[in-house]
Amino acid sequence: MPGPKNPNSEDSTPESEHQELSGDRKIPAAVIKRLSLYTRALQNLERNKVEKVSSTELAKELGLNSAQVRKDLAYFGQFGVPGFGYPVGELRKKLKHILGTDRKINVALIGVGHLGKALLSYGGFNRQGFRMRWAFDIEVRDKTIGAEKVPVYNISELEQVVRRENIELVILTVPAEAAQGIADRVVGAGVSAILNFVPKRIQTPPHVKVHYVDLAIEMESLSFYLR
Ligand code: ATP
Repeated sequence: MPGPKNPNSEDSTPESEHQELSGDRKIPAAVIKRLSLYTRALQNLERNKVEKVSSTELAKELGLNSAQVRKDLAYFGQFGVPGFGYPVGELRKKLKHILGTDRKINVALIGVGHLGKALLSYGGFNRQGFRMRWAFDIEVRDKTIGAEKVPVYNISELEQVVRRENIELVILTVPAEAAQGIADRVVGAGVSAILNFVPKRIQTPPHVKVHYVDLAIEMESLSFYLR
């Protein structure tokens, strides 16, 4: 049985939606999303041995304005030294800790079709601290996928593998008619984060966070600007 509708499940989360982060501080969901961008920019700077960065430089890199950057980062404490900038390494570590990506998160993908295979073959998730090492399908056509040789399990093993491997996040790329049933099963097995590529809303209990990615809708909204 699907649980009650989850008000926290959004594709484009409005700025007004606030999330509890730690203690009584409320952080807008849009700020949480930008933290990933900051973290990635800081990683690049660190790779290039840059030790300090100003809010203006960070803003330029990400196409934001510097007041926005200072305001966002101020949610998480006093980092910048006026006239000196932010310490790159320290800020990156802190943001990764806040995002929870300073530890490896086990990720499974369900539905090894065209899109599922493409996502499994993409190396970027592993580089960002996710361990995408499990795939499931109703019909196992290939034993492993991609250069990383991600094993494909039969969907009948879902609950057992999710529990055993402590899988915390699931990517859904199944056909629309299978999405709700699979979501119910992964939630039942303890998963509380779902990245849903299926163009269909799913019902989940309130503690489960669902993010939607609909590539066709993204292109459609871009097509508006081509008119
Ligand atoms: P895509 O939409 O990614 O291009 P596709 O067109 O190759 O996929 P779909 O019919 O969307 O195929 O199915 C995606 C995958 O989901 C297929 O590999 C299919 O076998 C699998 N699948 C279908 N039903 C289920 C289910 N109930 N549980 C797990 N996997 C399923």
